[in-house]
Amino acid sequence: MTGIAILGFLFFMILSIWAQSRVKSTFNKYSNVRPSSGMTGAQAAEYMLRNAGLADVRIERSGGFLTDHYDPRNKVIRLSPGVHDQASLSAVGVACHEAGHAIQDAQRYAPLVIRNMAVPIAGFGSNMGLYILIAGILFNFFQLALLGVILFGATVVFQVINLPVEFDATARAKRAMVDYGMVQAGPEEDGVAKVLNAAALTYVAATLAAIFTFLYYLMLVLGRR
Ligand SMILES: [Zn+2]
Repeated sequence: MTGIAILGFLFFMILSIWAQSRVKSTFNKYSNVRPSSGMTGAQAAEYMLRNAGLADVRIERSGGFLTDHYDPRNKVIRLSPGVHDQASLSAVGVACHEAGHAIQDAQRYAPLVIRNMAVPIAGFGSNMGLYILIAGILFNFFQLALLGVILFGATVVFQVINLPVEFDATARAKRAMVDYGMVQAGPEEDGVAKVLNAAALTYVAATLAAIFTFLYYLMLVLGRR
């Protein structure tokens, strides 16, 4: 069991490092490709929001690299400089993905509502669950260790709910970019798809790693009973 566990952890570690580096390299590659619409990320997000009839969502420029996100509490899309200011396929793709989250929020898209409710539980579960699990093992207290595993399982649930949210935001972005002429069908559309698909893969890798870790903890605890 231990040998398989170490191999498993190594596999998921390498998978997630590979997925992360692929996002960066794909993003950088298509950062150098200008869409024929000449739109920047900020303009594209703005255009997609306007076409969806969303007037109350602001777009802000933030710092960092690939830190782009939608903040549902303040109704703000924060775009990193490389996305906000650049007229590139990468910038338009990422910006429209975030606009997709804003539209999900406005339409009360069910998986997003559930995900937002799960955020505090997942944050609590990932930290406390691990401490409780360790305490349960140290004190040889089976029920306590099992409780720790179940709390840790909340993060797995969160990761799984997160997948449809991310895939749907990307699907909305892909549709809107072509429909509204921000990106042309053909090579431009394919380039943007590569950037967004690479990003989606990191979420899949994180989810698989979380499921594996959860199962490992569960077997560890059940095996000690
Ligand atoms: Zn997203």
